[in-house]
Amino acid sequence: MDWEIEKRHKECDGCGKSFNDGDICHTVFKLSEDEEAGERFDICSLCWENGHHGPSQEEMGKSILYWKGLVKIRAPEKKEEVIKKSSIEQLLKKFMSSADPMRINVSYILALILERKKFFLVIDNIVEKGTGKKLIVYEHAKTGENFVIQDPEVTSDKITEVQEHVRELLDNI
Ligand SMILES: [Zn+2]
Repeated sequence: MDWEIEKRHKECDGCGKSFNDGDICHTVFKLSEDEEAGERFDICSLCWENGHHGPSQEEMGKSILYWKGLVKIRAPEKKEEVIKKSSIEQLLKKFMSSADPMRINVSYILALILERKKFFLVIDNIVEKGTGKKLIVYEHAKTGENFVIQDPEVTSDKITEVQEHVRELLDNI
């Protein structure tokens, strides 16, 4: 299951200090019981070193994602850019919340396309606790939204098949 995750908070959830460009931000994403939604914690490096990790120790169960990245402060996205949001991105948002293996494969390919087009930046590669699933944490280059996409770890034959399918989908938008 992949989740659309809200943007990085402007201030540290530990001390309330504003993040500046180039700061290190530790992000913890805690899933709800039903794994349908989650809560995000952004912690500055000082708080992190002092043991403030967002959720309490008891909550640090298997359903927690963690990644670390550099803070990039962006100019707000222009209105026309928001309206012109690419169809690939919309397709990804539609597909990424599905547990269907084909949709997981398609989400992976769509994210790769967005990465190649420099719309998405790779922030971190992580392994989901409990399931051992490989996940790629992307950040939207314009809006700063995070997308956690599962790496389906499929063979190159399978990838070619998925790429064909993606091409058809994009042709039909
Ligand atoms: Zn802090």
